[in-house]
Amino acid sequence: MKIKELFNKSPVISLEIFPPKPETSIDTVFDTIDALSDLKPDFISVTYGAGGSSKSHTVQIADIIKNKYGIEALAHLTCISSTKKEVEDILARLRSSNIENVLALRGDRPQDGTCILEEAEYGYAKDLIAHIRNFGGFSIGAACYPEVHVEARDSLSDLRSLKAKVESGADFLITQLFLDNNFFYDFKEKLDLIDVNIPVSAGIMPVINKKQIERITSLCGASIPAKFKRILDKYENNPEALKEAGIAYAAEQIIDLLSSGVDGIHLYTMNKPEVARKIIGQISNIRSYLGNNIKYA
Ligand code: FAD
Repeated sequence: MKIKELFNKSPVISLEIFPPKPETSIDTVFDTIDALSDLKPDFISVTYGAGGSSKSHTVQIADIIKNKYGIEALAHLTCISSTKKEVEDILARLRSSNIENVLALRGDRPQDGTCILEEAEYGYAKDLIAHIRNFGGFSIGAACYPEVHVEARDSLSDLRSLKAKVESGADFLITQLFLDNNFFYDFKEKLDLIDVNIPVSAGIMPVINKKQIERITSLCGASIPAKFKRILDKYENNPEALKEAGIAYAAEQIIDLLSSGVDGIHLYTMNKPEVARKIIGQISNIRSYLGNNIKYA
């Protein structure tokens, strides 16, 4: 099923996982999928080469999610250092596995400078989106940034780029993580003003490690609100307490978003099913009140 259609019964609850690093066996991710499948998400997305994970496993993992577990799969695909031929090979593999959903991304610039944008076959994600639309058969998602993408000249130019992605054929959006819902609400108002009306899933990352969130936010430009900074400072040397506080904080963010009529919640699971399980457990009753009848067992 195309994810675009899933949003007809929003809120859509989705989970994100990443393939293991190249030196680690792919088998490690299967236990993760097994545990996450119990949570009955509307779809599971699989990243592509993010954080050093193996690109080559994305299609294989998406295939297992879709064809072994019967859960919709969203395969991420980046274009910054890909040729059109490589992209078409991946799309053909996805098609033959009956996977109908792609999150089309530019990808981060490699830090070793191996890819100069001017020499690349794709300039920006909008070019990949247009190519996938032309290839046919996929519901296409794109990334968006409530706190503005780190490379953007300013908020307005970032919004213009986002509008171009929608005009190229994106059907739905998933946000970068944010820890303050007000950024999301302000962003949604701006989308209304520029007539971007496709569904937007809110990307929520449960924070269970201080160093990790400081590294991630310094790379992606998301800010850490004072309220959450106090939690990090208080529990940085008490991993169990920080984990519980991070789970409660994420659940509170999600309940607020659901109450405000969000189209979807996309949980960055960081391949930690026990954390996702606790969060989904905390929101499951709210989900059922909102008409999303899938109930956490
Ligand atoms: P684009 O939309 O192309 O934008 C990139 C930058 O270029 C922005 O600053 C934009 O404002 C600017 N821009 C766009 N068009 C123009 C133009 N015409 N002129 C001037 N400037 C322009 N990375 C991975 O490697 N693998 C993943 O699996 C992955 N999954 C992700 C999932 C989500 C939900 C999100 C939010 C991000 C993900 N990323 C992933 C990270 C993403 O690849 C980076 O944020 C990347 O730097 C930008 O990708 P994009 O698709 O948003 O790029």
